[in-house]
Amino acid sequence: MLWVHVWTHVTSRDNKDPSENAAPPNGSRVSGSPTTQSPRGEPVLSAEAITKIYRMGDVDVHALSGVTFALHPGELVVLLGASGSGKSTLLNILGGLDTPTSGNVLYRGGNLTSADEAQLTRYRREHVGFVFQFYNLIPSLTARENVALVTDIVDSPMAPAEALELVGLGERMDHFPAQLSGGEQQRVAIARAVAKRPQILLCDEPTGALDFRTGVRVLDVLRHVNRELGTTTAVITHNAPVGEMAHRIVTLADGRIVSERRNEKPKDPSELSW
Ligand code: ADP
Ligand code: MG
Repeated sequence: MLWVHVWTHVTSRDNKDPSENAAPPNGSRVSGSPTTQSPRGEPVLSAEAITKIYRMGDVDVHALSGVTFALHPGELVVLLGASGSGKSTLLNILGGLDTPTSGNVLYRGGNLTSADEAQLTRYRREHVGFVFQFYNLIPSLTARENVALVTDIVDSPMAPAEALELVGLGERMDHFPAQLSGGEQQRVAIARAVAKRPQILLCDEPTGALDFRTGVRVLDVLRHVNRELGTTTAVITHNAPVGEMAHRIVTLADGRIVSERRNEKPKDPSELSW
């Protein structure tokens, strides 16, 4: 009974400003008002004591060993850690792409771990935007058409053109992926992820395939989206300096969170170097 109530809340389609429950120290709104202050408030999404064990024949791989982690409204968190530390596993579980072996994942108070496939699909479709290292654009569709594929299946999306303008590709909307650079293709992928106005944007190594300068431009777009739309954002990277642009930096090692640091003065991506 309780679960049904909670789940209805989870899946109800509302385009509520994710920063609405936020109570920043200065009392100002987060969304739409560029700020470098770290947003706070009730978590939008949280993982409680998550473990993930992959059984590989006779061997158990402990990808996550008791991770408790929360994303607060409007914040931009960078997840750092060496290859194999469990970053992707955590992000996939938060995004409903994978399920934990034990522990709970709560989205606005509703428990995703007890959701069925249809409910998880709905959660992913309506509330979460994903950006991966490889852009996964459809080569035979233009930038605008690639974004429209997503906006066609959700309620109240942005117009594809608006999303592409947000990522600085207003002039390239009718180009095919092959006519765009890697960084531009990644910006199309970001436009596609944010056009449905997700509550949460999850990015797994979004600059992993890009050179430094192009990567900075992509990070700048992610920060712009976070500030302009107030989209709660988590960015995985193995480049420690990227953490300097975040409100909070969380480091994983061997499937555990080994450090967590609030960054009172997030840097502009153009000030980063790695
Ligand atoms: P990261 O993203 O930090 O590089 P991952 O979350 O991908 O780390 O992986 C964490 C650990 O879990 C690694 O040891 C990896 O080999 C293992 N792992 C990840 N996915 C699977 C899977 N589908 N099957 C088996 N082992 C996996
Ligand atoms: Mg990974």
